[in-house]
Amino acid sequence: MERMSIVVPCYNEQDTVSLFYAEMNRVAEQGGGVALPELELIFVDDGSSDQTAEIIRNLSKKDPRVRLLSFSRNFGKEAAIYAGLKAATGAYVATMDVDLQDPPDLLPAMYETLRTGAYDCVATRRVTRKGEPPIRSFFARAFYRLINRISDTQIVDGARDYRLMTRQMVDAVLSMREYNRFSKGIFSWVGFKTKWLSYENVERAAGETKWSFFKLLLYSLDGITAFSTAPLAIASYVGILSCLAALIMIVVIVVKTLVWGDPVAGYPSLVCIIMMLGGIQLLCIGILGQYLAKTYLETKRRPIYILREFTDPQPQKEADE
Ligand code: UDP
Ligand code: MG
Repeated sequence: MERMSIVVPCYNEQDTVSLFYAEMNRVAEQGGGVALPELELIFVDDGSSDQTAEIIRNLSKKDPRVRLLSFSRNFGKEAAIYAGLKAATGAYVATMDVDLQDPPDLLPAMYETLRTGAYDCVATRRVTRKGEPPIRSFFARAFYRLINRISDTQIVDGARDYRLMTRQMVDAVLSMREYNRFSKGIFSWVGFKTKWLSYENVERAAGETKWSFFKLLLYSLDGITAFSTAPLAIASYVGILSCLAALIMIVVIVVKTLVWGDPVAGYPSLVCIIMMLGGIQLLCIGILGQYLAKTYLETKRRPIYILREFTDPQPQKEADE
């Protein structure tokens, strides 16, 4: 029989794991009239410091469908998704948050859609950002507008990491072994036919979000450097523009001196111009540095995650290719 794997990244989620497990059981049993295939629940404990791993371990002892992969430290949600996708054995694989912000009730419909063969992936987006601080929504919207303008990889506004994929698409995602993983970009980059489901934002079932505003900001900058080289191009355009401006100024000054003589002045404007150019230069070097730093990390070929514990008899090693 077919199998459906659910990949669930968990970081300090002791309050939500059991709720999530209960919900999944309910959906698997009722399924809204749809018989879901045999489930495989892969919980990836992303180096939690609370009881998360313990709770999952106990679940896996009672329920053979539950598998635990536990990281040696916090490697981040992207690494957890990668580890889970790698461990998944199902013909269909879903990625889902454990906090029930990704409604499990959508799963049967998603599965039905994929089974027709018309699509390779069903992805979800939230159409509202209810319950989120307005300032965060504002910056999130600005980020999506920016990255869609400067990157060839289109990223849907409000896209969540909640999606169901076919094995073929999962293998494609796994073939991207980059160290800086920006999932939203990766899922879009591999292509395939994706159907988008929209739903209203659901608030966390329990516990707290792991994303501070600052973390989100850094994450969005990561996304930009991972999927666009436009900032590098912009840096060179700015350079060309300031050269042009300088040329025009030279001509103006020469003409002025020839026509009206040379009353030496302009010290304040000189200082302003030097400061301005210095700033532009540092900014451009900084942009260059961002890309260099990413390249540096990629070339080290460090593993994306390190396992400390797993419930499988034979876990896949991360660096087994
Ligand atoms: N998560 C993770 N590692 C991290 C941060 C978060 O695995 O370093 C997991 C977390 O346990 C949850 C999901 O990623 O299942 C989404 O996190 P959260 O709900 O905090 O983010 P939000 O929904 O607020 O964007
Ligand atoms: Mg959440």
